[in-house]
Parts: sequence; structure tokens; C-alpha cells
Amino acid sequence: MRLEGALRQAVDQDRLVVHYQPQVDLETGSVIGVEALVRWLHPEQGMISPADFIPLAEETGLIVSIGEWVLRSACSQCQQWQDQGYEPIRISVNMSARQFNQKNVVAMVTEVLAQTGLDPNYLDLEITESVLMNDVNSAIDTMTQLHELGVQLSIDDFGTGYSSLAYLKRFPIDTLKIDQSFVRDVVTDSNDAAIATTIIDLARNMNLNVIAEGIEDEAQRQFLYSHGCRYGQGYLFSRPQSLQDIEVYLVPKNTNAL
Ligand code: C2E
Ligand code: MG
Ligand code: MG
Repeated sequence: MRLEGALRQAVDQDRLVVHYQPQVDLETGSVIGVEALVRWLHPEQGMISPADFIPLAEETGLIVSIGEWVLRSACSQCQQWQDQGYEPIRISVNMSARQFNQKNVVAMVTEVLAQTGLDPNYLDLEITESVLMNDVNSAIDTMTQLHELGVQLSIDDFGTGYSSLAYLKRFPIDTLKIDQSFVRDVVTDSNDAAIATTIIDLARNMNLNVIAEGIEDEAQRQFLYSHGCRYGQGYLFSRPQSLQDIEVYLVPKNTNAL
């Protein structure tokens, strides 16, 4: 209860911040997008990880307002970078179960895009398998409406939830994110290697993009890239950065001045 009170106060007092982690092309190293990751700046405890408060936010329903705030901040920021003259990149935003299951979720996303002016093609919503498997038909309906707006959809932590391959083909998704638990030992553990390469092949055969999470060293990058995974994210390229520090990863638009 104390934590819940503190979290409510944090929301009211603007103590949540969004950090951004680059998503890169494993071939060229260029940044193709960033993932928005929320943090709680606690006056005594310092920065609190979302892993420690998102579950509580989910339980108490606070996630609905937190999630909308993160989406709005991220979309607004992504549009601002374009206005500042950087090459356009995609913004990925995590969406929790409770948020995705709100009746007005499509209207909420539509409104945020309209208010921030961001072209829907630059927004990617990350949803986990368990969220989708909860009520498959309604999930497909919501995803279809989001997709019709032009928003991209990714399945986060792919392979760790209740995936049903029978449903996968019915989801209007664009990208599978290989969970970091398979990436960690991908070079040394033959089971992890088999799972990761199977996800890569599955994505390719279903015409989906695939992005690997949690790439921490060059051997992992090399393995994934050589097995057909084009995109990745992880400490090898960059940790999540504050708004101020992410700017060095953005590329100014080529003005062709010469
Ligand atoms: P996620 O969406 O799967 O995000 C990836 C997590 O892996 C992030 O943790 C990121 O900092 C971490 N990570 C990135 N690269 C590496 C790496 O190379 N090695 C390791 N060990 N970790 C890496 P973070 O920021 O603590 O977020 C944890 C989870 O909290 C996220 O997992 C996501 O499920 C949730 N989350 C974060 N922000 C939001 C949000 O705005 N809304 C919702 N609903 N959930 C959020
Ligand atoms: Mg994510
Ligand atoms: Mg993930």
C-alpha cells in the first residue's frame, strides 16, 4: 500500500521519466529506432526500474495513466526530433495487458498521434504474447484497428509466453522480438541457438521482421546476424539513455549542402 501511494504521488509529481534505447541494423550499425523505457526517479531510492513498479501499476490500474503518459511523451519526442532536423526513426512503446484491453485503446492511440502530429508509421507498439492470448478474438480486433491506423505492431519477449503458432498467423503483426533469455547464451548453448534460429526462420517465412533483444557482445551479434537476424538492441550498442544523452545516436538529416 505504501508503494502504491508513493507511485501515485510520483505520477502526480512528474517523477517518471522516459529513457530511450537504440535499435540498430546489425549489418551497418545504424540506428533504425529507439525503444521508450519508463523509469521512476525516487527522491531517496534513486532510479527505480520498471520491472519493480510496472507489475504494481498493472495491478492497481495506474498503468492506464502511466502508459498513456509514456506513449504521449514518446510520440511527442519522436516528432520533435524530426522537427529538429534529425533523420526520422521509429519509436517503440511497450503496452501492458490492462492498457491494451481498455475499451478506448484505439481512440487513445489515435488521439495521441493526432495531438503530437507523429506519422503513425513511426510508432511501433510492443505487446507480449500473454496479452494477446488472453482473449484472442478481441486482441485480433484491437490489433487490426491499430494496424489500420498505420501503427506497427511487435510481439515482445517472443517465445517466453503462451505462443500459439495457430494464432500467430492471424495476428496483424510486423515484428517478432527475440527475448533476451535466448540471446544471452546463444553462442554457447545449443538449445538457445536452436530456439533463436527457429524464431528467425519463422519470422522470415511469415514475412515478419525480427529483432533480437539483449545483445551484449560481438559474438552474439555475429551469430544472430549470420543466421539472418537483421536488427538488434542491447548493451553492445547502447544502454537505455536519458533524453539528453540519446541525441548523439540520432543522425542529422543530410542537407546536401555541398
Ligand atoms: P522489455 O520491453 O523487454 O525491455 C527490455 C529490457 O531489457 C529493458 O529493461 C532494457 O533496459 C533491458 N536491456 C536492454 N538491453 C539489454 C542488454 O543488453 N542486457 C540486459 N541484461 N538487459 C538489457 P527495463 O528498462 O528495466 O524494462 C523492463 C521491462 O519493463 C520492459 O521489458 C517492459 O516489459 C517493462 N516496461 C518498461 N517501460 C514500460 C512502459 O512504458 N510501459 C509498460 N507497460 N512496460 C514497460
Ligand atoms: Mg519492450
Ligand atoms: Mg522484451
